[in-house]
Amino acid sequence: MGTSNQSQAHLSSRRDFVRLAGGAAAALGSAPALVSAETAAAPTTHPGEDYYEKLGVPKIINAAGTYTALTAACMPPVVLAAVQQAALHPVRLHDLQTKAGEYVAKRLRCEGAVITSGASGAISIATAACMQHANNIRFLDMPQAIDGKKNQVIVQRAHRYGYDHAMFLCGARVTEVVTRDDYKRACAAGQGIMTNFFNAAEEEDGLAGTAQIGREEWLRVAHEHGIPCHLDAAADMPPISNLWKYTGMGFDLVSFSGGKGMRGPQNAGLLLGKKHLTDLAAQNNNPGDGVGRGMKVAKEQIVGMVAAVDWVLSHTEESMQGDYQKRVDVVTHAVKGIPSVRTETVVPKIANHVPHLLIRFDPAVTGVTTAQIVTALRSGQPSIELNPNTGHPPNQGIPSDANTLVVGVWMLQPGEDAIVGRRIRAALTKQV
Ligand SMILES: *Cc1c(COP(=O)(O)O)cnc(C)c1O
Repeated sequence: MGTSNQSQAHLSSRRDFVRLAGGAAAALGSAPALVSAETAAAPTTHPGEDYYEKLGVPKIINAAGTYTALTAACMPPVVLAAVQQAALHPVRLHDLQTKAGEYVAKRLRCEGAVITSGASGAISIATAACMQHANNIRFLDMPQAIDGKKNQVIVQRAHRYGYDHAMFLCGARVTEVVTRDDYKRACAAGQGIMTNFFNAAEEEDGLAGTAQIGREEWLRVAHEHGIPCHLDAAADMPPISNLWKYTGMGFDLVSFSGGKGMRGPQNAGLLLGKKHLTDLAAQNNNPGDGVGRGMKVAKEQIVGMVAAVDWVLSHTEESMQGDYQKRVDVVTHAVKGIPSVRTETVVPKIANHVPHLLIRFDPAVTGVTTAQIVTALRSGQPSIELNPNTGHPPNQGIPSDANTLVVGVWMLQPGEDAIVGRRIRAALTKQV
């Protein structure tokens, strides 16, 4: 649970925050050379310049979700305010990383933690750590001096994905397995440095898709051969308890994205797990010259990530779900009575575990297609992005189809639910 200070800040009005942010912005922008702490703290009403406006970048309504290309989440005011404070003072980066890691490990009930540039960055330095661990090499040896060394990451075919590239950076390669026998053989082959498990590829209550091996068995077999297991849980908070569930289950390393459900900076993430491995991962993280050097995590991201952890832990599982169901109800109400329209709320079991609204309709009745609605929403003012599962076959726990709009409500700002409802109604009834 958060301290009373945090909850107070969490509840503080937007105006208070703008004033605080303005103070920092003014201090950074207008002071000639050195800024004293007093100047930095002095309140001002300067709101900061709107660079989206200045650069001509359209702001959007995010009715999609925490998608990277849509800049993922917006930070809560209490997190932004902490970033603002941190931005005013230099520190020793190593001190900050070390203390931040210790603090997060304690709060998230694991042995060690590293603040990374994101989940993808976490996967890169996790792999590098395991490569070092398996081969007893220095972090500067990767990837150029690993010929003849162990370099295989063992992965189920159903768990292969775009983030495999994050593992390749240090010179690792993938051994793909399908059956239990494949897996046992791959572990026994003696080339494995790590296994990778894509958390959202498996349901909590059983195997999904074509994967044949569940978490418990996966861990047991790898550990029999002394191979550490990494779990990618990037988008899998909420529920909050996932932040310690998988390390508690025995995964040696677990990655989370900082800028998705955790609502920290978009370029931040967490690598949690066994201390001997997170320590190696930290060597590979910036500011060292290892594979993580280009994945710089600045003081603003480190502090923002730690503050986001505090923000998440200031919630209960219920309060973490916010007023998402109310927003779904607002949009549902707005499209009521349109011929052929049926609505439904779904909560994906793993990843993006929050209410999503499905709006099903018959284009033969409405006279508009899914593609036309998506275009109308995108080209209108303000531009609205629906969830990318709109018009797609079932995917990521969302049972959509060609004639289904998917509204992700959790990244909407206050009042945007009504706008989205109105605009979808207009699109479905050809009022645009
Ligand atoms: C988003 C995501 C990532 C990458 O996270 P970043 O924080 O953007 O680097 C990795 N794996 C999965 C499964 C994701 O959903």
